Amino acid sequence: MSDVREDVLLLVRDLQTELRVLRGLGVRVVKRQAQPESQPGEPSVKKPENAAPKIGGRKTTYQFGDGRQARWEMVMQEREAKPTKAPKGRQAQLFGQGARAEESLAQAPSKPVWQPNPLSAEEVQAKLDELRQEIGDCTRCRLHTGRNNLVFGAGSPKATLLFAGEGPGRDEDRTGKPFVGRAGHLLDKIIEAMGLKREDTYICNVIKCRPPENRTPQDDEMRTCGIFLARQIEIIRPRHIVCLGSTAAKYLLQINQAMGKIRGRFFEHSSGARILPTYHPAYLLRNAKAKKLVWEDLQKVMGEIKQPVEEDPNPPPVPLRSGLTS
Ligand code: SF4
Repeated sequence: MSDVREDVLLLVRDLQTELRVLRGLGVRVVKRQAQPESQPGEPSVKKPENAAPKIGGRKTTYQFGDGRQARWEMVMQEREAKPTKAPKGRQAQLFGQGARAEESLAQAPSKPVWQPNPLSAEEVQAKLDELRQEIGDCTRCRLHTGRNNLVFGAGSPKATLLFAGEGPGRDEDRTGKPFVGRAGHLLDKIIEAMGLKREDTYICNVIKCRPPENRTPQDDEMRTCGIFLARQIEIIRPRHIVCLGSTAAKYLLQINQAMGKIRGRFFEHSSGARILPTYHPAYLLRNAKAKKLVWEDLQKVMGEIKQPVEEDPNPPPVPLRSGLTS
């Protein structure tokens, strides 16, 4: 009985995280996927009257440890009312020309403002340890069968800059540490060139187990494992997230565009963090010319890091001693 309770609690927590991520991306409707209970000849899902046309979405499958599955469909719909248009310049600055990202801004009630994590390094680390424990000897997707070590992530719990890559390669799988192979050494050099130390940042991947032959992770693997990346971001609360490669960009931005089209643009995470996609260091090892582009992209991040933190116009209520809030 307690196993069932733990499963349900895990499921609820994962869904809460996913909903927060999706809300920030403009998803407004979440439907439980219909079960095949309808009569023969009848459609299995009755479309509600006056339903707004669907413009995108995703199906989410959560796998319990014993193989049972729960399935949800997240649906992105067109707005019913015409949104207030944000200033053109600001839209361009936040989202580039990505249509879906612009819709997110238009739908958002207010722009989220990033604020430093109020927790101490020890408290954040304790939460990360708790998450690692929760992931455990994970078998939630097929990638567990070929792994030697699960690669959770590493770095400062107080990092304000987080690098998100695709998944572990051979060296990472062998050591259990992220970005330790040739691409990792190149990333170290890039971080040094930014005037930072690797240990001041946090480095992790969308996928925690090495895909066979380093193939690109499949969509269902990203959906299942990406929840852990979302939780890491939520716990660490970085000010900037650099997506290294299109897999990380695809998961975090929920867009499927070539890196050449989205690199070097800032997108906004629901936490207020600024997301910037750029090429993966492994790509730079094969295409040295792209190093210049990555450097241009990262200079934008460096420029923002130097800027003082914007004050939150709607700060969270201050807790009073009694436990009530002001
Ligand atoms: S890739 Fe992620 S979800 Fe899949 S088994 Fe590894 S840790 Fe679990």
